[in-house]
Amino acid sequence: MPRHLFHPSLYDFDTAQPSYWEATAAETQLKNVVLSGTQSCDVAIIGGGYTGLSAALHLARDFNVDARVLEAGHFGWGASGRNGGFCTIGGTKLSLKSQFSKFGIEQTRHYYQCQADAVNLVSNLGNDENIDYRRQGDQEFVVADSPAHMQSLIQEAEIQRTKLGMDVGVHSQDEFREIGYSSPHQHGAISVRPSFALHPLRYAEGLAEAAERRGAHLHPHSEVIAWRKEGNTHILSTKQGELRARQVILTGNGFMPEHLHHGVKKRPLPLQSAIVVTRPITDDELAAQGWHTENPTINSSQMFFYYRLLSDKRLMLGGRGNHIGDPAGAEKTWAGLKQSIGQMWPEFKHIEFTHEWRGLVNFSMTLRPSIGKMPEDQSVYFAYGYHGNGVNFASWSGRELAKWLAGKESDNNHLPMHLPAILRGRPPKFPLAFLRRQYLRAGITFYKLRDLLDW
Ligand SMILES: Cc1cc2nc3c(=O)[nH]c(=O)nc-3n(C[C@H](O)[C@H](O)[C@H](O)COP(=O)(O)OP(=O)(O)OC[C@H]3O[C@@H](n4cnc5c(N)ncnc54)[C@H](O)[C@@H]3O)c2cc1C
Repeated sequence: MPRHLFHPSLYDFDTAQPSYWEATAAETQLKNVVLSGTQSCDVAIIGGGYTGLSAALHLARDFNVDARVLEAGHFGWGASGRNGGFCTIGGTKLSLKSQFSKFGIEQTRHYYQCQADAVNLVSNLGNDENIDYRRQGDQEFVVADSPAHMQSLIQEAEIQRTKLGMDVGVHSQDEFREIGYSSPHQHGAISVRPSFALHPLRYAEGLAEAAERRGAHLHPHSEVIAWRKEGNTHILSTKQGELRARQVILTGNGFMPEHLHHGVKKRPLPLQSAIVVTRPITDDELAAQGWHTENPTINSSQMFFYYRLLSDKRLMLGGRGNHIGDPAGAEKTWAGLKQSIGQMWPEFKHIEFTHEWRGLVNFSMTLRPSIGKMPEDQSVYFAYGYHGNGVNFASWSGRELAKWLAGKESDNNHLPMHLPAILRGRPPKFPLAFLRRQYLRAGITFYKLRDLLDW
């Protein structure tokens, strides 16, 4: 029985992605101590992405808790070091209508306020912890792919403004040509604040350095390969050592090590996201395409493209990968993304590409993020399922786990009742969970069809 859901090439913890972010990373000040021998701490954290690092930083800095992070690769090896760098509002794929009917307007509003708070948290962490993550832009654009999509975006913006108190602007096609770009796939846009873009790996490394500086112990290249419990003590084994702890925070999101704990088995739905980056585009080329923005941008098609101009004027574009995760499939995905650039911006049709890479995001049955403690063992905390939007929300979830665990939001419930209802508790198991990749395949086909029919 394979340990992971996707092709093994996606779980090579010893190899960094050939990403633009790795090529432009900062020199790290981390101590880089692999776990060895028997160590102990109050809180062991599995996974060194934004969730685990933010939890460690806040536990050590704000609550003086003795925390250690075990990461299988280098810090930021997972999605946190290879994402698109959109620090924006999102995190759920439930429609607003479903959120209102399941949770009510007040709880939905609370959730979106937390999302905005999460963007501000990343902003403050950059300032407070002196993290140079190359901030760009001050809002996110959602661009209508067709006139019908623009009508839907206008309706949605009105609800977001009036019912959720969000800061959303509407821009006609002509207006967006002035502040955004020209394209046959541009039929107007909405803008959402607070939002900005950053260098994701520099942010992850900065979080790790801050956590270490504030007293947390960080262990890269220390994959947890077994987890057992003796009395009230958790014992996490790696190749070279053993960590004993009273409490554990389990993270992993799209790379969740499901085999380690039965409480997380069969619940995550990892999904591939892939990115391509061009060579720097000259000012003349940008002017010819009518390109004016460095704000992070998505387009409204169902198959979902996200893109931004990087600080050295390269264009980055990302989209969804296939349901297998094999290297040959990745080549096809990258080729498709490159072709899309030519379709969306004809002036860039023949531009050369310098980087391409991929990774895993995480969906769940409930289509919303999850924060909680395992109902079977309340000394195990978790947060995952950010639905492709974890730069802000994984950072926020890590902080919220730290507060909850340190007793500042204490209760004896396995659900975080002080947080919005939308993200409380564990998602259910997928029925016939071995078919999860086939469910994805069906979903991808369905959404491609909707794009084709503009439905
Ligand atoms: C290509 C791509 C583009 C994306 N773009 C955006 C974007 O623009 N904006 C946005 O908000 N979100 C984006 N996301 C999603 C975002 O990156 C994630 O939601 C977020 O990084 C999740 O953080 P995390 O710490 O929970 O998980 P991760 O960063 O994935 O970290 C999990 C870590 O767990 C480690 N691990 C796994 N098993 C073990 C084990 N047994 N022992 C020890 N460690 C283990 C892994 O090595 C990994 O480093 C994107 C994701 C991808 C892949």
